[in-house]
Amino acid sequence: MTTVTHASEPSVKSASPVRSGSPADSAASRPQKVSLFENVIRQFNKATTLMGLDPNIGKILSKPQNEITVNFPVKMDDGRVEVFTGYRVQHNSALGPFKGGLRYHPSVDIDEVRALAAWMTWKTALTHIPFGGAKGGIQIDPSRYSSDELQRISRRFTYALGDNIGPEYDIPAPDVNTNPQIMAWILDTYLSTIPPHARQNCTHVVTGKPVVSGGSLGRDKATGQGIVFLIEQWAEDKGLDLSNATYTLQGYGNVGSWAARLLKPHGSRLIAVEDHTGAVANPAGIDADHLYEHVRAKGGVRGYPSATPIDHVALLKTKADIFIPAAMESQITAVTAPLLDVKLVAEGANGPTDIEGDNLLQQRRIDVLPDFLCNSGGVIVSYFEWLQNKRSEYWDLDEVDAKLKKQILKAYRAVRDAAGQFQTDWRTAAYIVAIRHIETVYKERGIFP
Ligand code: NAD
Repeated sequence: MTTVTHASEPSVKSASPVRSGSPADSAASRPQKVSLFENVIRQFNKATTLMGLDPNIGKILSKPQNEITVNFPVKMDDGRVEVFTGYRVQHNSALGPFKGGLRYHPSVDIDEVRALAAWMTWKTALTHIPFGGAKGGIQIDPSRYSSDELQRISRRFTYALGDNIGPEYDIPAPDVNTNPQIMAWILDTYLSTIPPHARQNCTHVVTGKPVVSGGSLGRDKATGQGIVFLIEQWAEDKGLDLSNATYTLQGYGNVGSWAARLLKPHGSRLIAVEDHTGAVANPAGIDADHLYEHVRAKGGVRGYPSATPIDHVALLKTKADIFIPAAMESQITAVTAPLLDVKLVAEGANGPTDIEGDNLLQQRRIDVLPDFLCNSGGVIVSYFEWLQNKRSEYWDLDEVDAKLKKQILKAYRAVRDAAGQFQTDWRTAAYIVAIRHIETVYKERGIFP
């Protein structure tokens, strides 16, 4: 079954993004039950009031353009059939084709996907990429399924989405619990459903592919690399010597582990880290590469031999220069923000801080590199991958990294300037830069008819 809703009314329903039993589910950290999309709208409204956005354009941007829900059957290894629910929310395409990742997680629902899709719209606008914003996913715990089952689920989801994705229309990419292999399955399925003569022109239907299947060099590390470029610039602006700096980290998947491995050459010390299996600390520093090997072998940071187990609250309370949340949303709240003892929160995850948490960080004068600036390296290099596929080119890693650095630091300076001009926090400033860009496009084109 496929349900496509155009410009539907966003509902405000409760969703707790923290899984029960997870390290982040301790009493001290449990977030208020707020709709994630409502959180986006509150951030958006704060910026639009300050910048004086045309209210007609505010109305358009407050709602997703299209929402697609698909229920599709998949045969399991034991012969049973399970029916899965998948989503794709296409928030806005004023600047170009819809763009955004696919997430496989039990927390995925229409509210979460709406919020993530809207953040993609702001991210592509802020970084001047000719894409709109979208996000999708399946409500699923992928650890419960075999690789063959995940392949059939991914292929059948792609088939169910049908023409709702396309290389010039809506381009998915990896997100939580999805990876280059899943992108390769999506690519292969999509190509199998279109006429043979069109197939060679459509490899850019997904980004974040394995390099030999048309992926870009540097896409795997791009989000972490972008975070590190921004931290370097922030440290330079603040006069902080990164070779003496300490940091804590939540999430050791794609984003978190790359950020850590790329901070290592600077000499910065990772002193506490948490993922869904637990948290560990070592004031002398945790070797990012050794931890990466441990996580690959054991499935999580728990049991890492060169560190001591700690709990979630201890992780948050650890005094450090920088905290990088790189896991799930709504982790920094009215309850947890007072625990942080850092100078900078570099938001690798999407939506890790809710409105109340944000207010507390500002009151406590903790700097924030806001999510849709801080983690924009991934979509910037996805854009480079898309361009390479369209032009039948392969760029070398130095070229990708140099272009990424230039583009992400341009966005950093735009946010810094807007924060000064409007005397506001960096998140609101990032919204202002992004929304102003989209507003200009709407004003130039007008509203049909
Ligand atoms: P991933 O699946 O590779 O890693 C997710 C990490 O989060 C894992 O280490 C997992 O153990 C941890 N985690 C999950 N639940 C947790 C919990 N309750 N407490 C502590 N840790 C928990 O995902 P990823 O691609 O690294 O994405 C992480 C975040 O970054 C997400 O918010 C995602 O939307 C955002 N992001 C990812 C990209 C990208 O290129 N992959 C780009 C931009 C933003």
